[in-house]
Amino acid sequence: NVSVEQMCDRALLAANSIKGQYGKYCAAYDDQLRSRLLREQAITDGMEVALAEGQFEVYLQPKYRIKDDRLAGAEALVRWNHPEWGMQSPAYFIPLFEKNGFITKLDQYVWDRACAVLREWEDKGYPPLSVSVNVSRADIYNADIADILLNTIRRHRLPPSRLHLEITESAYTENPAQIIHTIGRLRELGFVIEMDDFGSGYSSLNMLKEAPVDQIKLDMRFLSEPDPYGRAETILQMVIAMGKALSIPVLAEGVETKGQVEMLKSYSCCLAQGYYYARPLTVEKFEEMMDKQTGLSGS
Ligand code: C2E
Ligand code: MG
Ligand code: MG
Repeated sequence: NVSVEQMCDRALLAANSIKGQYGKYCAAYDDQLRSRLLREQAITDGMEVALAEGQFEVYLQPKYRIKDDRLAGAEALVRWNHPEWGMQSPAYFIPLFEKNGFITKLDQYVWDRACAVLREWEDKGYPPLSVSVNVSRADIYNADIADILLNTIRRHRLPPSRLHLEITESAYTENPAQIIHTIGRLRELGFVIEMDDFGSGYSSLNMLKEAPVDQIKLDMRFLSEPDPYGRAETILQMVIAMGKALSIPVLAEGVETKGQVEMLKSYSCCLAQGYYYARPLTVEKFEEMMDKQTGLSGS
């Protein structure tokens, strides 16, 4: 037996759950919605403590130069190592953090950790690899983002060029003027800009035309999704050729098979990232891998 007041609350929750979804006019409060809301509440309740206690961990996924299989950098990807829930993938909490605003805090933490790793490698005498960090849409709206990034790299005594910034193209769709301005400013300061998830949104080509990006990261669906009309490979080939004509290197994401590597090589795609080469690794595992590949020792 549920009180009238509770019923109203639940009806309101159900109504809110479809806010902004066109073509959906009714919603019901059911167990599924209930458990989703509870889950979101638990994430929200735990996030600040998690950050303070170091439950967020930065993994690194290597990027390779295709023509000679050489390590060309890494992408920093966050994981939540929760004391009760275990290791959680970003798909589980990032969308919520983008809604509740916590993403800006988490991103700054990840940028700082990435720079700390770069500093450590510098001190250990590793080759000067760069690390790419993800910059969320919300960060773009933060007027202080350039100063925050600059402070971060300065604190760790690194040049800005060692920190690459992955900016997803969906940020452009929302506010082109803002993103063009921010990217211009960040490039002036010496950061390298990578356009993440290229080809996944509605304005890839417009963003490419108007925002001065340094690298294109081709969305992994070009390699993975069903290809009902046999067009994916031609589109892939043409995007790589377009990058070449514009002098913008293209990285293919989600490369999983040898066949895909051979195909990308035949179109002279510069860079690749994916399970074929390596999964996202802990910093220790990444260093072990560098030790094996370069023959450098860590001390
Ligand atoms: P993304 O930036 O496009 O990152 C690539 C995602 O693809 C990663 O998932 C990676 O583990 C996965 N991946 C890499 N190679 C393969 C492959 O060969 N096959 C398949 N199926 N997947 C592959 P992950 O780590 O779960 O991250 C998902 C998304 O979460 C990222 O997409 C990014 O948008 C977001 N994200 C992760 N860390 C951060 C962060 O620190 N800040 C922000 N703002 N977003 C983050
Ligand atoms: Mg990325
Ligand atoms: Mg991506």
